[in-house]
Amino acid sequence: MAPPALQKTGKFSVFDRPGVKQTQRTSGARLTTASAGKIDQAAGEKIGGPFAVEPAPAFTAHREAVWDRAAAARAAAPPPPKRPIEITLPDGTVKPGVAHETSPLDIALGISKQLAGRVCVARAGDVVKPVLWDLPRPLEGDCRLELLDFESPEGKMVFWHSAAHLLGAALEQKYGAKLSIGPPVEGGFYYDAYIGNETISDKEFKDIQARVAKIVNAKAKFERLALTKAELLDMFAYNPFKSAIIQNKVPDGAMTTAYRSGPIIDLCMGPQVPDAGRVKAFEVLRASSAYWLGKTENDTLQRVYGVAFPDKKGLTKHKAMLAEAAKRDHRKVGGAQKLFFFDQLSPGSAFFEPHGARIYNGLIAFIKDQYWLREYTEVVTPNVYNFDLWHTSGHALHYKDDMFCFDVEGAEFGMKPMNCPGHCLMFKHDVRSWRDLPMRYADFGVLHRNELSGALSGLTRVRRFQQDDGHIFCREDQVEEEVRGALEFMKHVYDVFGMGYRLELSTRPKKALGDKAVWDRAEAALASAMDAFAGKGGWRVNPGDGAFYGPKIDIKVTDALERVHQCATIQLDFQLPIRFDLKYRVGDTSGEEGGAVTRPIIIHRAMLGSVERMMAVLTEHWGGKWPFWISPRQVCVIPVGPTNFDYARAVRKTIRAARFFVDVDDSGNTLPKKVRNAQLAQYNFILVVGDNEVSDGTVTVRTRANTVEGTVPLADFVARCRVLQDTQAKDPPPPEQPAKGAAPAKGNKK
Ligand SMILES: [Zn+2]
Ligand SMILES: [Zn+2]
Repeated sequence: MAPPALQKTGKFSVFDRPGVKQTQRTSGARLTTASAGKIDQAAGEKIGGPFAVEPAPAFTAHREAVWDRAAAARAAAPPPPKRPIEITLPDGTVKPGVAHETSPLDIALGISKQLAGRVCVARAGDVVKPVLWDLPRPLEGDCRLELLDFESPEGKMVFWHSAAHLLGAALEQKYGAKLSIGPPVEGGFYYDAYIGNETISDKEFKDIQARVAKIVNAKAKFERLALTKAELLDMFAYNPFKSAIIQNKVPDGAMTTAYRSGPIIDLCMGPQVPDAGRVKAFEVLRASSAYWLGKTENDTLQRVYGVAFPDKKGLTKHKAMLAEAAKRDHRKVGGAQKLFFFDQLSPGSAFFEPHGARIYNGLIAFIKDQYWLREYTEVVTPNVYNFDLWHTSGHALHYKDDMFCFDVEGAEFGMKPMNCPGHCLMFKHDVRSWRDLPMRYADFGVLHRNELSGALSGLTRVRRFQQDDGHIFCREDQVEEEVRGALEFMKHVYDVFGMGYRLELSTRPKKALGDKAVWDRAEAALASAMDAFAGKGGWRVNPGDGAFYGPKIDIKVTDALERVHQCATIQLDFQLPIRFDLKYRVGDTSGEEGGAVTRPIIIHRAMLGSVERMMAVLTEHWGGKWPFWISPRQVCVIPVGPTNFDYARAVRKTIRAARFFVDVDDSGNTLPKKVRNAQLAQYNFILVVGDNEVSDGTVTVRTRANTVEGTVPLADFVARCRVLQDTQAKDPPPPEQPAKGAAPAKGNKK
């Protein structure tokens, strides 16, 4: 019998949900328990069992015995043939090597010892589908080889993944914890561990760190071993969570890998850094509870978050960034500024309070205005559809778990998780000709996705949301121009936000549907549009990472804290037009029936993505200091004394009539206190009005940054607001040329 095939995959874990687009975790995508997939487990069944804290637990000895036995068995197998191979480096240098002997680490050492000490992982393989490869793991044939250090996204994820194993080791050693999953995530890593009803407090972090330091100081190597399903089940028999993963995720007869480093052996697809000694700075950040598979009725786990760096400097810088991020956390700012809240009666669906709704609607208005300029047409479509629609669109098969479904008069209905199928019905409703295309449908329809309650998080992971969703139905010869138009749209939006962006083209995957020639032409059109937009070399390719129904452009934006968010997308779709049998007439039949028809191509595109999520991203990007044009509190009028109240109210009335958000502070507070309060509330402008202003019809302008700009006629101030609003000016607003008759800036009358 042939030996079972080793599962070969570039992914880190066995934990990706089938039927859902699998993102390479190296791209920084988050792997949460929500994407944990189907583990066969009855609802409400707890599998953790009784637990007593057991430092230096006995199960490690059994694990090691199984490892040693399996390692001996693998070593006894006849060695693979050794033959000369050629290893091509990115600069074109070709290094000679021996198959099943030469490792990327050998190549790195051949270049410099310093390089070998710095790299985290290799990327090896052919151009089409290279995979991440452990540095000490011998190469198996001719290949291209890239050496990736911590500064690369892939290197960082591997480094954090290794650090997660060390964290797992410490949790085992300290508590005898039963580990479940421990992935790298954006900004570090975590490990979910079962310790019965025990919890982990901040006071214990130091001890956890000390235990990690011990493994680091010993420079424990990360060793990799392929094991059969039976061996794995034996190895992890003590751990119901790992057993469930193995049982459900490793196909019978297949092998998968485990990694050993110091006291820990973990079920893991790798790759890993060569040794623990590289993790020179490690810190436990926080601990909270989580649920096995993200379901509240399952066992409670302790989720311990950590971060690690190759040097202490990196950690110090990261901690400063975290402190700033915590200050800007959109949930915190959203509460402080009374923008939105959640209620347990509708988890994952935000209540936008009046000031939050101003921002929400402001973002939509901003995009609607662009729609007008860019010739999109808005449509309004239903929220609830008979499941026949979802069978046609394919959502019934691939997406049902994420939908809210219910019975209506004996038929199954579902709430829409996306707008495209509805737009297909609209396209189909009339006879379309080549002259009608492109048709650009825009829809802010409310969408619902049934996210697990354990996965919900602020405005970034919600059940109810709106997108600035648009679908362009176009001819193949229009794809390039439409994509270029979408890219320019995207550039405008993120320039206004003051965010950088990066473009990535994801191309035809192995399991793609449709005509290869159409794919090739579409990819060429996308590449050409991206070249025209960003210049050659101004974007990168993720080979084979497209969806099965079409290639796409991912747009990664960078916020003020240099964090990367995926918001905008431009996705081509060849399949939905087939599923819905969409067609248009290619010739002018001058009213006659019949004539040749062909299928349109659909471009799904969103600039903001989810408005909810974008609001979270922007809150943190701006730290709650909204630029004037989107600010929910634009102007605060402060009368110096009670005799100025009427004038203050008249000023408010004028500004409000010009459609700006303005309030009067006629409280009994002192003037300095009122100014301070308005600044803390993030009013962009504070207008102080006293007797002089009343007699001159002026206002004295202060900013929230406490710059006193001087006294200007009210009409001039309103005109300036209009400019700031219409140009979506960045904050702080550019200094204005001195207004007519403006008094020189001076301290306010107190
Ligand atoms: Zn792992
Ligand atoms: Zn769509």
